[in-house]
Amino acid sequence: MSKVRTRYAPSPTGKMHVGNLRSALYEFLIAKHAGGDFMLRIEDTDQERFVEGATDIIYRTLESAGLKHDEGPDKDGGFGPYIQSERMKSGIYMEYAKKLVERGEAYYCFCDKERLDSLKTEIVEGKEIMMYDKHCLSLSKEEVEANLASGKPFVIRQNIPNEGTTTFHDELYGDISVENAELDDMVLIKSDGYPTYNFANVVDDHTMNITHVVRGNEYLSSAPKYQRLYDAFGWESPVYIHLPLITDENHKKLSKRSGHASFEDLIAQGFLTDAVVNYIALLGWSPEDNREIFTLDELIEEFDYHRISKSPAVFDIVKLKWMNGEYLKAMDFDRFYEMAEPYLRESLTKDFDLKKIAAMVKTRIEIFPDIADHVDFFEAVPEYDVSMYAHKKMKTTPETSLEVLRELLPILEAQEDYSNDALYETLCRYVADKGCKNGYVMWPIRTAVSGKQMTPGGATEIMEVLGKEESLIRIRAAVAKLEADKGSAL
Ligand code: GLU
Repeated sequence: MSKVRTRYAPSPTGKMHVGNLRSALYEFLIAKHAGGDFMLRIEDTDQERFVEGATDIIYRTLESAGLKHDEGPDKDGGFGPYIQSERMKSGIYMEYAKKLVERGEAYYCFCDKERLDSLKTEIVEGKEIMMYDKHCLSLSKEEVEANLASGKPFVIRQNIPNEGTTTFHDELYGDISVENAELDDMVLIKSDGYPTYNFANVVDDHTMNITHVVRGNEYLSSAPKYQRLYDAFGWESPVYIHLPLITDENHKKLSKRSGHASFEDLIAQGFLTDAVVNYIALLGWSPEDNREIFTLDELIEEFDYHRISKSPAVFDIVKLKWMNGEYLKAMDFDRFYEMAEPYLRESLTKDFDLKKIAAMVKTRIEIFPDIADHVDFFEAVPEYDVSMYAHKKMKTTPETSLEVLRELLPILEAQEDYSNDALYETLCRYVADKGCKNGYVMWPIRTAVSGKQMTPGGATEIMEVLGKEESLIRIRAAVAKLEADKGSAL
C-alpha cells in the first residue's frame, strides 16, 4: 500500500473556522496515525475571495494547534509548489485541461456574459444554479482555433454526457450515484487563465499523491464531477471523507453571529488551545470507549477515521467550557499562574498575594475570564443583604451571626498571626468553647469578609489574603450592618 498522504487545502479567505480546523485536524490525525505525511496547500486561485493576511492566520492557527505539516509552502517535500497560484505558473492546469479537451472530456467555451445570463437558471438549495447548454460543444475544430487565434476570451468546461449515471464512494456516505443530466458542465479553466478550485483540487491531489481527502460535506454535491475527472484521466481517486455540518445549539449552521465560529474567536474568549483541539476532535468522531480528554499524541494513537459519524455535530459551548475547566485543573500551577495573572491584575488593583488567589480559583473556574466573578470581593465587599447570614444548614440567622462576630472581634484584634492555619485554629478553639458547629461560626465570618454566598476559599483563607487590617475593617463593618438592621427591625 502506498504511503498515507493527506492535505489541508485552505483558501485564504479570512479567519479559520471551527469546521476548517476540524478538517485540518482529521487530515493531520489520519496521516500521523498511519505514519504518513500531512501537507499544507494554499488554494488561492479565486483571486476575488483572497483576503490579505489570511495565509498568516492559517500558519499561526496550525502551529498553535500543534498540527505541524510535513510539507507546505515553507517546507519543500518534492511536490511543490504548494501554493496554487505558483503551481499555475508552470502551466500544469492548462496542460491537464488540454489533455481532457483532446479526449473529448472537456471543451472550449467562448460564450459571453450576455449569453450566459440569458440561459435558464434553476434554484437548487436556495442558490441560483445555471446549467450550461453545451452550446460551444458543437463548434468545429476550425472555429475553435480561429477564435483562439483571434484572442477571443474563453473558458474550458468539463464535458458531462446527458445520459447515464456517475457513482463515487465516500467513506461515510457510502456509494452515491447521480444522474449525469443533473451535472453541470463546470468551468475548469477560467477566462483569467486560473483554474477553478474544482479542477485544481483534482489535479493537485493526484499529482501530489494524496491518498485521503477530508472536507466539509458542502463539497459532496461536486464530488461526482471530480470523480468524472479522475476517471477521464484514468487516475485512482483518493479516499473521500465528507464531514457532516457543525451546527450551533439551535441546530443552525455555526455562523459568525454565534461568536465562537472561528478558532481565533475562541482563543480570544479565553479558551485554551489544547482544550479547543480536543473538543473539535470530538465533533463528529468518538473513540470506542466514552473517553473525552485526549492530548494530541493520544488522539494520533486513537484516531480511526472509520469511527467518524455522519450525523451533524453540535457545537456545545457549555461542553467546551467544562472541558476547558478540566484542562485548567490538570494544568501545572506555574503555567496556570502565568496565564491567570493578567486576568487577576485586571480585577485586583490592591497589593494582594496573587499566587494564593490563583491557587484558590484554579479548580473553580472553567475559563480564565471567569476569574473576575470569583475574585471581585477581594477588591471591595459588594452590596449584600443581611439575609445572607441566614443559613438553614449552618443554623445561622442575622442575630446569631451578630453575636458570633461581636464575640470574635476582640479575639481577632488580639491575634497577630493571620496565616490560614493560625486563624483556623483560633476559630476552632472558639467553636469548641461555644460548643457549636463549625459552620455556625465560619458562615458569618466568611459572609462578613466577602459579602458573597460563594467564594473560592474558606473564611480563613480569605482572611489570610486580606491581611489583619482589612479583615478587621470588614468584620467591624459587618457588625455595624447587622446592628443597623436589628435597629431598623425594632
Ligand atoms: N479550498 C477549499 C476550502 O477551503 C478546500 C476544500 C477541500 O479540502 O478540497 O474549502
